[in-house]
Amino acid sequence: MSKPPRAQRGTYFVVTWGCQMNEEDSEQMGLFLEQIGFTRADSLPEAQVILLNTCSVRKKPEDKAFSMLGELAELKEVRPDIVIGVCGCMAQLRADEIHRRAPHVDFVVGTGQIAEIPALVNEALSERNFQTRLDLPERKGAIVEDVPHRFVARETKLKTFVPIQYGCDKFCTFCIVPTTRGRERSRPVDEIVAEVTSLAAQGTKEVTLLGQTVNSYGKNLVDGKTPFSELLWRLNDVPGLERIRYTSPYPRDFRADLIETIRDCPKVMEHCHMPLQGGKDSLLQRMKRLYTVESFMEILGALRAAVPQISITTDIIVGFPGETEEEFEGTLETVRRARFNGAFMFAYSPRPGTPAATMEQLPVEVKKHRLNTLIALQQSIVEEINAGLVGQVFEVLVEGPSPKNPGIYQGYSREFHMMHFAAGRELTGRLVQVRATRSRMWGLEGELV
Ligand code: SF4
Repeated sequence: MSKPPRAQRGTYFVVTWGCQMNEEDSEQMGLFLEQIGFTRADSLPEAQVILLNTCSVRKKPEDKAFSMLGELAELKEVRPDIVIGVCGCMAQLRADEIHRRAPHVDFVVGTGQIAEIPALVNEALSERNFQTRLDLPERKGAIVEDVPHRFVARETKLKTFVPIQYGCDKFCTFCIVPTTRGRERSRPVDEIVAEVTSLAAQGTKEVTLLGQTVNSYGKNLVDGKTPFSELLWRLNDVPGLERIRYTSPYPRDFRADLIETIRDCPKVMEHCHMPLQGGKDSLLQRMKRLYTVESFMEILGALRAAVPQISITTDIIVGFPGETEEEFEGTLETVRRARFNGAFMFAYSPRPGTPAATMEQLPVEVKKHRLNTLIALQQSIVEEINAGLVGQVFEVLVEGPSPKNPGIYQGYSREFHMMHFAAGRELTGRLVQVRATRSRMWGLEGELV
């Protein structure tokens, strides 16, 4: 390999795959290292400490992580003083395999132990013995205190993710998350409010609350109210904060008081990303999703009745083990009825260690064909919906110039429509009114009102 730039002592670089929770964890990993005097390197080859924060939700990100570990073996040969750590879901699941296939890795840290990273880095710098930290908290249930410590002193960001709940108790048959992230734990309300207050004081205008089943936050009902609704109302009072989003709610835990909160709480946005996963009851049963198509559609109906302009997006898996032609048609029919504003659509990918991985699998071509059919249907629905939005005026939080066209500014509407419009730099970070003038697959073009 050609000689890489010289590693800067006392610098780190984190490579991230996967979901928003991982992005958030990566930022925290960096902040932990900054506590012991490290600074962020501009690029990977310049860093003394390299962390790979991995994802196991599908096979592809795992393959990418192993491929990068192969490249890092070459880097470590020419720069033996660098430290390499593997973190995240793949680390939690496959620590032994990582050590076997990539002996140049110094430590493997699971999802519940990122606070250990500074100590592991120091040990790697002095002793160089392979280390693992893989314990996951056992505790299950409502709000608990033993959730990871979080740093809030960060760079000002217009929009920030804030984890409010870790782990998951649902055990859907296709999903590895309960194994990689442990049982459901919710952060105390006051701690979340303090963090969001501090972020808003630094200039954050929008927070997205993160949890695997975010609306089961705190679990137990208090006087008929879900703790999640209560939390949204508490955050509504945070000075300087303009917008609250959340992802992802679990359909069965979506109660009437949450719909009322979305309708009445001024800072809660009119957008809901609610995973459907399968559009036929028999599929949902095999996935061990604890709701039916009709109960899902009832929530959609109630949300749209309460908040007519709400946009609803979703996740759908096709080619789940044993999915018949009739079941797939059922999913298409549900998608036609639901008219989602957007969808992340995936062909099922077996995850070792999950029940669905042991079920009879469909051929890859069938999965691909069904995925393409579903994507075409969903795109035609999005085209129709977006065309119907032309002429309407939306409140948009201006994020800055479009990366592809610096003359055009971009931002999301309250309903999570991406909007592009001509504006000036001085509007960045402000809420503006934009009239949609043209619909696109990715969102809307518009003009300032
Ligand atoms: S609800 Fe199901 S899909 Fe979502 S994280 Fe939990 S087990 Fe995974």
